[in-house]
Amino acid sequence: MLWESPMKKNLVALLAAVFVPLALLAEEKVDLSVVNKIKAEALQNSKVMDHAFYLTDVYGPLLAGSQNYRNAAAWIVKTLNEWGIEDAKTEKWGTFGRSWTYSRFSAHLLEPQQLPLLGVPQAWSPGTEGPVSGEVILAPIRTLEDAEKYKGKLKGKIVMTEQPRELQLHLTPDARRYTDAELAEMAKAPDPAPPSPGGPMMPMMGPTPPGRRQAGPAPQFRMEDLRGMRNKLTQFLKEEGVLVVIQTGSRGDDGTIFTSSVGSREPKDPIPAPTIALVGEHYNRIARLLEKKIPVRLEVDIKARYEDPSDGLNVIANLPGGRKKDEFVMIGAHLDSWHAGTGATDNAAGSAVMMEVMRILKTLDLKMDRTVRLGLWDAEEQGLVGSRNYVTEHFADRDTMVLGAEYHKLSCYFNYDNGSGRIRGIYLQNNDMARPIFEAWLEPFKDLGATTVTIRNTSGTDHLSFEAVGLPAFQFIQDPLDYNSRTHHTNMDTYDRLQRGDLMQSSAVIASFVYHAATRPDLLPRKPQPKPRPRSQPPKPEEKKS
Ligand SMILES: [Zn+2]
Repeated sequence: MLWESPMKKNLVALLAAVFVPLALLAEEKVDLSVVNKIKAEALQNSKVMDHAFYLTDVYGPLLAGSQNYRNAAAWIVKTLNEWGIEDAKTEKWGTFGRSWTYSRFSAHLLEPQQLPLLGVPQAWSPGTEGPVSGEVILAPIRTLEDAEKYKGKLKGKIVMTEQPRELQLHLTPDARRYTDAELAEMAKAPDPAPPSPGGPMMPMMGPTPPGRRQAGPAPQFRMEDLRGMRNKLTQFLKEEGVLVVIQTGSRGDDGTIFTSSVGSREPKDPIPAPTIALVGEHYNRIARLLEKKIPVRLEVDIKARYEDPSDGLNVIANLPGGRKKDEFVMIGAHLDSWHAGTGATDNAAGSAVMMEVMRILKTLDLKMDRTVRLGLWDAEEQGLVGSRNYVTEHFADRDTMVLGAEYHKLSCYFNYDNGSGRIRGIYLQNNDMARPIFEAWLEPFKDLGATTVTIRNTSGTDHLSFEAVGLPAFQFIQDPLDYNSRTHHTNMDTYDRLQRGDLMQSSAVIASFVYHAATRPDLLPRKPQPKPRPRSQPPKPEEKKS
């Protein structure tokens, strides 16, 4: 061992103190020549709307567990193969359970006037075995106490189980982009505040507003309560001999119907009475007639069927890396949708963008050290099921935190699932270490509107499956457009609501993020690894998106 003078030692220490932090804060490298190529391919030679066309008009809607979903997954594998991404495949995550499709629906007002009604069967509703007609009764039922009041009064009736809802004049635009002021506000850390006592609650019934779904494994006992209650109400209506149940949901008008499911994929859950959602205007007309004691008769025809449990399938594909090819960067989006429209903004948009990112990187033949892996997830709408199972299989079991072989090989995961709006920035999910990296990567996209890095969390989709086990996983800030007012889980979620320029911009930003993640010297920095959390223990409440 060499002897060093104390003075020299001090000098070294001083130099280290000055230069090491500087080195740590060194500019994140951005390859502008690559950014330039990516922009040209993404903005001038985009194929993103072609991918979206197949996922919506040709194969959509892609309800999880349906044949449509499996057909779309097979088409994606074939398409990626044709681009030269040879290992694209579907990967089984488990058994889906009871799957459901419908092939015919009509509803008509018969008395006091005749009118075709605008509606959609709720997912997992049984069919009606041909057209059925009957008298309508308004019986708002939200709880078992409500149900008691109607015992013996519903047999053979068409039952409206929700209160009519006053429809408001629209004085603000349905679609909007974030203003600079809103983005500046979003960039601020939220006020430190104690979490609400008892943790977040799930809504009782009906569709979940976007961005509000539970983070990580949902609080088990609460979910169980909810499902138990829902099953009891379902069983009550069924046992009372209700002909058809009519709902309208808590939002939607002007022909827009927000839909969800009435039954479940769990084979042990009860089969509900046939259940439809009607547009607010038609629901309210019937309710007004009933209020004035004017008899109303409807005819409803639903053709629907259940299928035997099928394999749950994610779509997985790799672009092999170079000298660090066992390390990888992941991108993903959920492929499944709801059934009322064609699932365009939720989430053909995300799937098409992520396919396009793979196409851009492959077409440009960019040399990347790390592998880039695509994951298109099944059954996100049933509770992040496809991605959660993938994470358990490949990375870590959230309950035990027993780590899988790839846990330390993943750099980061990027997800896209907030509609068709362009990228305005990124949520750090409380990972301060990623801030300077993302700020550098966003710099060449400032003139395309992508500017904001926020420490805040966003929830409600598949990045949570990764984050739950401590993997760096991110969602982008996207312009809301008409997602909340018109398209999220609605009959109007169609190709026409996709904004071409927005999806092209998103493809460019993500392709560049992925390239830089796959070529930077180190993996992305991680937050501390979470401790095991047995399922019976409710999680700490997650911070909600503002
Ligand atoms: Zn979605």
